[in-house]
Amino acid sequence: LPPAAIEALQPEDVAAMLSLPDPDGHKYTRGVVGIRAGSDAYPGAGLLSVAGAACGLAGMVRYDGDESVLDLVRAAHPEVVGPGRVQAWVVGSGSAAAAEPALRDALADDVPVVVDADALAFADLARGRDAVLTPHAGELSRMLGVDREEIEAEPLAHARAAADRYDAVVLLKGRHTVVARPGGRVRVTTTGTPWLATAGAGDVLGGLVGALLATGLDPFDAASVGSWLHGAAATLASQDGPIVAGDVAAALPDLIASLTAP
Ligand code: AMP
Ligand code: MG
Repeated sequence: LPPAAIEALQPEDVAAMLSLPDPDGHKYTRGVVGIRAGSDAYPGAGLLSVAGAACGLAGMVRYDGDESVLDLVRAAHPEVVGPGRVQAWVVGSGSAAAAEPALRDALADDVPVVVDADALAFADLARGRDAVLTPHAGELSRMLGVDREEIEAEPLAHARAAADRYDAVVLLKGRHTVVARPGGRVRVTTTGTPWLATAGAGDVLGGLVGALLATGLDPFDAASVGSWLHGAAATLASQDGPIVAGDVAAALPDLIASLTAP
């Protein structure tokens, strides 16, 4: 790739794309994000996706995942409500066999979808749609039939290839996270810390990107802004020492405040 084809967001770019509450708005105009993640075996994936989505950018978070996770979600996030209309879906994390029906249902709603984890095996269903696919190198390896080591050695080329192959935005996670859209535009995430290599971090990212889609950002902007915020929140949180995934979600409001301060 010629260097000029690789973009990097600056803090002021991110700030400009964050949607602040309109004084005349209400919770529905701010956007509603729906989460279908988590299962009896992996309740944390549902909880952490909700935590990323509940950063305050969208006006409402709905949880429409596994019944067994619902009580935990309600206890941790009393503001989260049940199924209904949404402006964006987040599907796949920790959802095993429920991933395929969840993705089909989400696509039937004709709203943008974040496709993560178990749902990535069915990413062909999202071809040509307003979707953000969020694989790490191992997941992209299975999707493309390319060795993981090759993907890690050339993340830009493989994220681009996947964006063209699926005709959708691809957010390839890793040490250097890359967001590619079909046709070749690529943004590299410049924020982040090795402390992010912690269980559940990807679930928080999925929820956050879903919230940004619900506020009306297009998939390329939502993915790249979400990845930027996720990395910056991890850096902020890890100033106090080692972090777990929930700490990344918890740092988002302070980070957003620092970006949007007049
Ligand atoms: P997941 O594997 O789905 O939980 O996602 C892992 C998250 O941690 C992604 O946001 C990755 O970009 C991030 N991550 C993983 N390894 C590293 C690393 N070595 N340096 C920085 N970020 C990382
Ligand atoms: Mg993951």
